[in-house]
Amino acid sequence: MEFPKELITFLRAVSSLAVLTGAGVSAESGLATFRDAQTGLWARFRPEELATPKAFARQPKLVWDWYAMRRAQALAAKPNPAHWALAEMERHVPDFTLITQNVDGLHQAAGSRNVVPLHGNIRRVRCAQCGFYPPSWPEDSEQVPRCSQCNGLLRPDVVWFGESLPSWALRRAIQASERAQAFLIVGTSALVQPAASLWKFCAQQGGTVIEVNLERTILSDKVDYGLYGPAGRVLPALVEAVWGVT
Ligand code: NAD
Ligand code: ZN
Repeated sequence: MEFPKELITFLRAVSSLAVLTGAGVSAESGLATFRDAQTGLWARFRPEELATPKAFARQPKLVWDWYAMRRAQALAAKPNPAHWALAEMERHVPDFTLITQNVDGLHQAAGSRNVVPLHGNIRRVRCAQCGFYPPSWPEDSEQVPRCSQCNGLLRPDVVWFGESLPSWALRRAIQASERAQAFLIVGTSALVQPAASLWKFCAQQGGTVIEVNLERTILSDKVDYGLYGPAGRVLPALVEAVWGVT
């Protein structure tokens, strides 16, 4: 792949970098993005109708089962070259923060260390009532499993539409974005706020904003560089071009 020369020179000298990733980074690991049609049994539901507190209040078992299916997929999935390339990038940039909207844990599995999980972790569940984290739970019981401490319903440890982000995670994400000389946006449709606006903290301080996506997005006209193609191809090529490793 060919990249603009001045982008390569610039990145080579960068000492602070923030990255925001979305579901597109895990697409090549076989995990569906939200925009992809739901398949099989789940085809008639839109994610926006399942990933909400209201849906869980009305039909807890339906929401639990959808997450149980996605949890099993996440646990079976393996990091792909996009995840590996981001983990490699971290080794070359002293101040590196990987902010992710993904809940699958694949960045950590690939070796990324400074990860800010904005939307939680699908591999864990917590009590919807008291916040207790059970070490284990029955995955396929007839009913939604309940908390051993207070008998409340257990739910996935993710941020649902309409819920606020953990304040510590949002704070870390904003601080990293403000410090960053460059902000890399990878595999996100940039429709979910506030993640979709983090790049502005970098741009306001004079930072350079770069987008990597399969196709153009609503941000494409605003970024400094757009690199279009599968993240699993673009990122390893970029890392090789800048730091000489794959
Ligand atoms: P999205 O589904 O809205 O957008 C995915 C984006 O990735 C699109 O812009 C698409 O063009 C791009 N894309 C698809 N395949 C790609 C590839 N191979 N390389 C590069 N780009 C590719 O996802 P989003 O923007 O992350 O936002 C939706 C919400 O979905 C988030 O809140 C997130 O928590 C949740 N989600 C997470 C996972 C996961 O953890 N793997 C999966 C689905 C949804
Ligand atoms: Zn409880």
